[in-house]
Amino acid sequence: MTHRPGRAQRSASDLASLLGRIDGRGYGAYRELLGEWNLGEFLLAVDHVQADPFASPSRMRVRVPMPLAGFPRSLFLGSVRRMALEDFLARVFRARVRQEHRRKLGSGKSGLISIDAGGQEVLERAACRVEEEFVEARISVGLPAAGRSVLGREARTLLLEILPSVVRGSLFYRSLDSDLVSRFVKTVEDAEALRQALPMRGLVAFVADGSVLPRRSGVDDRPLPVPPARPFVSPPELRVTMETPNRGPVTGMGIPEGVTLIVGGGFHGKSTLLRALERGVYNHIPGDGREYVVTRATAVKIRAEDGRRVEKVDISPFISSLPTGQDTREFSTDNASGSTSQAANIIEALEVGVEVLLIDEDTSATNFMVRDRKMQLLVSKEQEPITPFVDRVRELYEKLGVSTVLVMGGVGDYFAVADTVIMMDSFQPKVVTDQAKAIAAAGEARSEEAREPLLPPTPRAPVPSSVDPFRRGKVKIQARGVGTLVFGEEVVDLSAVEQLVDASQTRAIGEALYYALRRGYLDGELTLAEILKAVYADIGEGGVEVISRMSEEHPGELALPRPQEVAAALNRLRSLAMRQRK
Ligand code: ADP
Ligand code: MG
Repeated sequence: MTHRPGRAQRSASDLASLLGRIDGRGYGAYRELLGEWNLGEFLLAVDHVQADPFASPSRMRVRVPMPLAGFPRSLFLGSVRRMALEDFLARVFRARVRQEHRRKLGSGKSGLISIDAGGQEVLERAACRVEEEFVEARISVGLPAAGRSVLGREARTLLLEILPSVVRGSLFYRSLDSDLVSRFVKTVEDAEALRQALPMRGLVAFVADGSVLPRRSGVDDRPLPVPPARPFVSPPELRVTMETPNRGPVTGMGIPEGVTLIVGGGFHGKSTLLRALERGVYNHIPGDGREYVVTRATAVKIRAEDGRRVEKVDISPFISSLPTGQDTREFSTDNASGSTSQAANIIEALEVGVEVLLIDEDTSATNFMVRDRKMQLLVSKEQEPITPFVDRVRELYEKLGVSTVLVMGGVGDYFAVADTVIMMDSFQPKVVTDQAKAIAAAGEARSEEAREPLLPPTPRAPVPSSVDPFRRGKVKIQARGVGTLVFGEEVVDLSAVEQLVDASQTRAIGEALYYALRRGYLDGELTLAEILKAVYADIGEGGVEVISRMSEEHPGELALPRPQEVAAALNRLRSLAMRQRK
């Protein structure tokens, strides 16, 4: 914590008497709280005081010196364990608040204490920091008021009784269940180790035996209880054993690099498996069911997204000679079709680095995925602008090293191009590659439609003036849930960016874009990939909070998004202008 010169650290009794003194005064009197308080077991830093009881709550930090917090170093040794412990402590803090404090203490947000803790995924977030010397939680507190006047007594209860009790119950190691903490940290570390090991094993994903993939509902991401959920059992042909640092050997299904098809009847669990792979870029909390389902970190879900904006993307590998005569090597539109949006989504993923494309027939444009033999006979190649994905998927792997995992229950034309075919049968995978290949060989082949060879995408540089976080002279960056980013004058629809999982990631995306502008990375010269590299190098040094624009030490509610999702948001800005760098 910074020491504000000339101001001695004030004590708990100073705080109590201040709150007594300002009782009944106008809400602005709370500004006297700004600065640091030594409350004995911890330091309280009041970084920002809300303007009134209805405004967003005041920002505070509580910092417990490590000798008091007492966490064994082994729990935060190394960046993975530290991140896991920080994520865990934010959850415990939130749970403690819920347990100990349910009352509202006045008008508006009076009496509220909150921390930005996560859901099923474990993310690097700004809510909690664990250092050698201390543990710090960054929280929001609604300072109590009646109407607009200070409720000093309630504030005293809140800051000098409830808050200390929450802090003692969450940031002190001795209050925690040591087995729970250790299990959390070790689970995350094991998942991370599994993911790191994928490339060496030639795998794009791993699904441990016993994993529970289905969720309770479309709006409840917790696991479906077993039963009715059927735990995952790997097929013998793809069964691999992976080593983990804590759990030892873990056995499950390894999905090899190349082109993998997931087939099977409707309602047999194909999409559920793919969704688990999408989320496998993240680590999960113990009990999630997907703790040991891991996918290469750069994997991107690709889908059709008609209506989206596209700015100067070279979609010519998939779409050329449009009836409008538009040049698809520099394709822009305010209203993409199903197929053009899906093509743009692929090229944009390639542009910022992707090792695996994840595609589900449920959310794909049929004409983008395939043109079957009958259609080829009726509509000639000359009349069809689209080179279907089926004619590019092998090239993607062989030339660019990009694997694909594709759910396809409706069309057999992919048998010919697949390396591995997995059939989901009553939620259990079976390997049916040989049968599929035999069927492909027996039937009459469709003709291959790719003409020009597939090349890596042309890099693009975003134009700084087209990325504007200001609205009426003020920075406006806000997340409305996970799927909507308010950025300056724009409301960016991210609902089709399916690997975003947390509204604090959405917020962080907005902050990352503004940070890239402020730091001069987004300068009109650097390409999108270069900009992201620079931003993430800084985050690697200083944590996700480096992108925060807050002048105070409280960085706000931020969780780390992947570069892929930052790019996705930028690419969906309606105002975006790009220059291709040929
Ligand atoms: P598909 O894509 O093959 O049509 P889904 O993946 O959408 O099938 O799954 C159909 C339903 O079955 C969903 O409601 C899903 O939650 C449920 N489900 C998926 N996997 C399992 C499983 N392992 N055990 C029990 N239910 C499952
Ligand atoms: Mg499905």
